[in-house]
Amino acid sequence: MTATTQHYGSGRHLRFHVLTYGCQMNEYDTNTIQSELVSAGHMPVDALADAELVVLNTCAVRGKPVEKVVTVLGELRKERRQGRDLTVALMGCLAQLEEGREIADRLGVDILIGPGAITDIVPAVDALTGGVSEWESLEFKDDLVTHITPASGSLTGFLTIMRGCNHHCTYCIVPQTRGPEVSRPLKAILQEAEDMRQAGTQELYLLGQNVNSYGLDDPSLPSFAELLRRVAGVGIPRVKFTTSHPMNFTSDIIDAIAEEENICNFIHLPVQSGSDRVLRRMGREYRRDRYLSIIDEIRSKVDNVVISTDIIVGFPGETEDDFEATLSLYDEAAYEQAYMFMYSARPGTPSAKHFKDMPREVKTERLQRLIERQKHWSLVKHRQLVGSTLRVLIKDIANEGDYLYGHSDQNHTVLIPKNQSNRLGLMDVVIESATPHTLYGSLKEHHAASVPLLMAG
Ligand code: SAM
Ligand code: SF4
Repeated sequence: MTATTQHYGSGRHLRFHVLTYGCQMNEYDTNTIQSELVSAGHMPVDALADAELVVLNTCAVRGKPVEKVVTVLGELRKERRQGRDLTVALMGCLAQLEEGREIADRLGVDILIGPGAITDIVPAVDALTGGVSEWESLEFKDDLVTHITPASGSLTGFLTIMRGCNHHCTYCIVPQTRGPEVSRPLKAILQEAEDMRQAGTQELYLLGQNVNSYGLDDPSLPSFAELLRRVAGVGIPRVKFTTSHPMNFTSDIIDAIAEEENICNFIHLPVQSGSDRVLRRMGREYRRDRYLSIIDEIRSKVDNVVISTDIIVGFPGETEDDFEATLSLYDEAAYEQAYMFMYSARPGTPSAKHFKDMPREVKTERLQRLIERQKHWSLVKHRQLVGSTLRVLIKDIANEGDYLYGHSDQNHTVLIPKNQSNRLGLMDVVIESATPHTLYGSLKEHHAASVPLLMAG
C-alpha cells in the first residue's frame, strides 16, 4: 500500500502501522484502533518501515510477549536516534502497568494508552502532531462499551461482548490491565453482528475474558445463554465464543449450544490445573469434580462437541502428585485441543509476591510431558474423523506447502490441496488423514457464499 503525508489545518495525517500481540481481544481492539485512525484521515501502511506512527498493541499476560515489545521499542528508538521521524504509541495491557510506564519512559514512547481508553488514539495523535510532547490515557472509559467498530468484511469477525475481569486468579495480571467486568449493551452487540453479516462475515467470534459473565453486572441485560440465542438469530453461519470460565458455565448455556444450529459445537473451557490444592492456591473458584461434571454434561448434550482448555504447569508449589492430577484430568476430559503454558511470574500479581517460583527445568520437563499427553489425545480424536465430512471455513493459502487452510465448525485445523479450489469460504471437506495438529482432506463441495480467492479479506 502506498500513501503520502498530507497536512490539513493543524491536524497532520500520518502513515501508520499497528503491531498486535496476544489474544483475539487485542485483534478486535486493533480493528477499533485502525478504524478510528482511518476515519480521522490517517493512512494504514503494510510495511513498518513506511510508517510515521507505530502503534504497539501489547500483551502482558506472560513475560515473553513483554520481552518482544521491549525488543521492537529498542529498535525503533535506535532508528529515531539515527534521524527517522516517528511517533510511537504503546497501547494494550502492558501500557496499563507500572512495568509498561517504566519501559515507555526508558525507550522513548510518545503515547501511552491502556486497553480501557483505546478510542483516545486520535486525540493523542492530534495532540502530538500539534506540538504536545507526550500523551497518557489510562482510565476505563464508558464510551468504549457502546462504541461500534465498523465491519471489516473479513470471513472471520471478532466481536467483544464484555470487557474486564472480576476474578482474582493469583497468577493473572488481567484484572489490573483490563479493569472490572463491564458488559456491552445488547443493541450494540446485535448491530455489530448484523453489520458483519451484511459485510459477508461467515464466522463470528464473541470475545471476553469470561464471556459467560455477560450480563451479571447489569440486571437489565440478558444472560449469556440468551445473548447466544439472540446473536445466533442474526444469521451468520457460524458463531463461536471465547473464553468461558468454569464458574457460571450453566446448563442453559449448554442447552443453547445444543439447540441453536449455528452456535458451533466447540467449547474452550480453561481448567488451569487438575489438582484441587493448586486450584485453591491459584484462586480458581471451582474444584476438579465440579469441572469434570460440566465436561460430562457438555459431552452428553452436545453432539460431536470439541472441548479445548488452558493449562498452566509449574505453578509455585506444584508437586509431582499435583502435576499427575493434571495429567489424569486430561485423560478424563479427553480434550481434543489444549493451550499449555509454563507459569510466568508477573510483577504485581499475588502469586509473584507471595510464592516462590520453581526451577525452570522442572517446568520445562512437565510442559513436555503434558504436550505428549495432548498429542496423544488429539491424534486419537483426529483419527476418529478420517472418512467423515466436515464443514470447513477455508480462510487462506497455508504458509507451508501447496495447501489451503481453514477451520471446521469444531475448530479443527483442516488443509486441502490448493489445486482443488480457487475460492475461500465454507466448504464440505472429506477428511483423509490426521496428525495431532492437523486434518488433511479433499474438497467435496463449495457452499453458496464462498468467494474467489483474490477477493477474500
Ligand atoms: N479469562 C480466561 C480464563 O480465566 O480462562 C483466560 C484469559 S488469560 C489472558 C489466557 C490464559 O493465559 C489463561 O487461561 C492462563 O492459562 C494463561 N495465563 C494467565 N496468566 C498466566 C501466567 N502468569 N503464567 C502462565 N500462564 C498464564
Ligand atoms: Fe485472568 Fe482468572 Fe480473570 Fe481469566 S478469570 S482473566 S485467568 S484473572
